[in-house]
Amino acid sequence: MNRRQWLKLGALFTTGAAISTPLSAAAATPRQRQKFLADMPVIKARLSANENPFGPSDKAKKALMDAVPESYLYPREALMQLRKLIAQEEGVGEEYVLLGAGSGGLLTGTALYYAFKTGTGSQILSGDPSYMQLVRAATQVGCGWEKVALTKDYDYDYDAMAARITDKTSLVYICNPNNPTGIISNAQKLAAFCDTVSAQKPIFVDEAYIDYADDPKKTTMMECVRKGKNVIIARTFSKVHGFAGLRIGYLIAQPDTVKEISKFAQGPSAISATSAQAALVSYQDKDFIKYSIAKNNESKAFLYKILKEQGYTYLPSATNFVFFPIKMDGKRFLEEMAKRGVSIRTEWNYAGQNWCRVSLGTMDQMKMFAGAFKEIA
Ligand code: PLP
Repeated sequence: MNRRQWLKLGALFTTGAAISTPLSAAAATPRQRQKFLADMPVIKARLSANENPFGPSDKAKKALMDAVPESYLYPREALMQLRKLIAQEEGVGEEYVLLGAGSGGLLTGTALYYAFKTGTGSQILSGDPSYMQLVRAATQVGCGWEKVALTKDYDYDYDAMAARITDKTSLVYICNPNNPTGIISNAQKLAAFCDTVSAQKPIFVDEAYIDYADDPKKTTMMECVRKGKNVIIARTFSKVHGFAGLRIGYLIAQPDTVKEISKFAQGPSAISATSAQAALVSYQDKDFIKYSIAKNNESKAFLYKILKEQGYTYLPSATNFVFFPIKMDGKRFLEEMAKRGVSIRTEWNYAGQNWCRVSLGTMDQMKMFAGAFKEIA
């Protein structure tokens, strides 16, 4: 298998979970395996999965280590405490909170529950482009996908989305700030949409990147949940806390909804004792969150400067990644960057252009990106 073929296996650039697949699929014999490994580009700057290289915090790492001796026990108390802290912070009862090992499994469980509940012909409604995990899970079980193009300002077209709701709509999915665009919606506009449309259909607001917003408390749709609306909020520790490999996330929704989704999603029982203790510490560590955001902003400012210098435009990002149009075929761009040790994502052909999504890494990683980018831009 040559480098080109290897690169086709784009899954390698996405999540850790996918990394074992290309190797086992491509290299059945020891010889093939050796060749496969020799052909692999060495990635020095992984800027393809929106991880946070500034975390986990030192305090979280200590909590992880300290939790090891007692990790033969199921972490019931730590999880109860974490759920309680989240509920208090968000101003709801504990029964509104569903913990999970990352938010991804909760997105999938939600998709399955609503596909099942709505029955044959059900459809998920979402903006396009957006994060696809929930939509993909729904379509796997026969659900349709109704996609509504973003506006020319790369925001959701809320009027068009409201107009597309039918009896068959099982759920409306909104990712805010959006992945891959990094664009944040106006909070009043989104709240008005949630208030009215949730009377007809459940609305899922994926707030994976909300901590990077200028004012997360004004950005979140939690008020809709507190008002009793049929709105489901998802959050993750994978981003600002740097827990992508530790796997902690949660949903907040009406208690009946939480009960139903938890029948389809693997909830807190999937969380390890070590991650539970680390999450308890990180959740309360406001200084670390500030640090994480400040470092992210430094890398963002550096990347903006490089892009501008090279004559590229970009979308202003409220997240830990930046989305920008590229001037060559996306696949070629990805391959050329990978040859230079940098992984990014480029699968979007959008508004007549190929786009790159680059995650914000450490300054060293961003410099590696800049060096490679200048060679091929
Ligand atoms: N939602 C969005 C918008 C994401 O970008 C991601 C991961 O990148 C997730 C959810 C899932 O994250 P996790 O399963 O690590 O919590």
